[in-house]
Amino acid sequence: MSNNTSAFLSTARLTVDLGAIARNWKLLGSFAPNAATGAAVKANAYGMGLEQVTATLAQAGCRHFFVATPGEGIRARKVAANAEIFVLGGLTERNAPHYQEAGLIPVLNDPGEMEIWARRCRQTGNRKPCALHFDTGMGRLGLDESQAMELAAENARLNSISPVLIMSHLACADDPKHPMNAHQKQAFDRLCQGFPGIMASLANSAGILGQESFGYDLTRPGIALYGAEAIDGTVGPMGTVAKFEARILQVRHARKGETVGYGATHVLARDSVITTVGAGYGDGLPRSASGDGVALRAQFPGAVGHVCGRDVPLIGRVSMDSCMFDVTDIPLAQLEKTEWIELFGDNIAVDDLARASGTIGYEVLTGMRDRCERVYLETMEG
Ligand SMILES: *Cc1c(COP(=O)(O)O)cnc(C)c1O
Repeated sequence: MSNNTSAFLSTARLTVDLGAIARNWKLLGSFAPNAATGAAVKANAYGMGLEQVTATLAQAGCRHFFVATPGEGIRARKVAANAEIFVLGGLTERNAPHYQEAGLIPVLNDPGEMEIWARRCRQTGNRKPCALHFDTGMGRLGLDESQAMELAAENARLNSISPVLIMSHLACADDPKHPMNAHQKQAFDRLCQGFPGIMASLANSAGILGQESFGYDLTRPGIALYGAEAIDGTVGPMGTVAKFEARILQVRHARKGETVGYGATHVLARDSVITTVGAGYGDGLPRSASGDGVALRAQFPGAVGHVCGRDVPLIGRVSMDSCMFDVTDIPLAQLEKTEWIELFGDNIAVDDLARASGTIGYEVLTGMRDRCERVYLETMEG
């Protein structure tokens, strides 16, 4: 069933299959059957729409959501009244009241944040739950091992903040054989012994898919929910979620030797048929996906679109609102009947577009802009 309400007022559209997200979430759960499966819905649910994704997963049974900012937490709360919503960063004296109002659980990363939360709870006479983040090798956020062990030994301080979750984040899980994975697990196991009886969480998507026994009590998948690669080079069993398409604006005949786009970087090697389509970097198509003439081109394979059953090369530079493809090899009669070209989706993996652009699927998905119209599908289980 589709609730396709597209008004066709945009020339680029992102179709998000919410049913596929729910199926991916359940499938991830089967990889860590002893853990609860949470969901990372930060960065607008990786560009897919925070409210739509959070509501879908809450409906599917997800009880633990992870967001990056309190603002995202407040948005998630509106569609997931009873869920536990963990905010990964940024507790301050000033925003602490908003956490309490919306019932958000701050993930505390250092002693200063612990102090802020303890004080806030004292002031309101209301001991609200929090989570503790330990740095076991990511080198980004969290208490280091000695700070954590000190805390474990101080009952009064621990009681003042009532942690309901301890967590750490993997630095190299996208490479399952990397020695950092075992190193971080050992460090996390030591820390867990210091905090008995508190729910523990270590695994992101790659930690779930690439490692056994990294599940602990709660997992925090993000990218795999959205059907992109968690482990380098494979999407594993995850279903495709997102399709990015651009409307065909014009089809033109051009002669050998003419140039295409800004900078005249692409010189036609033959008489050609070129189509200009309505998606550019203003919609989230990376400019670094540009065809030849851009420096990155030497290092990465070129971006392609998919139209009339074929892949066609992106040529020239990506503009703000449009880009061009060489469609010389597509029969004109077929092209004339076609409205949209796929930039990623069932035929082109988002990670392939990312590789062609010198980046990763995460960045392409989270880079999808508001101007690109979102269309939501709710495909049934099957
Ligand atoms: C983003 C994030 C996740 C989800 O990671 P994926 O690789 O997208 O599965 C989990 N935990 C933390 C702390 C994060 O920042």
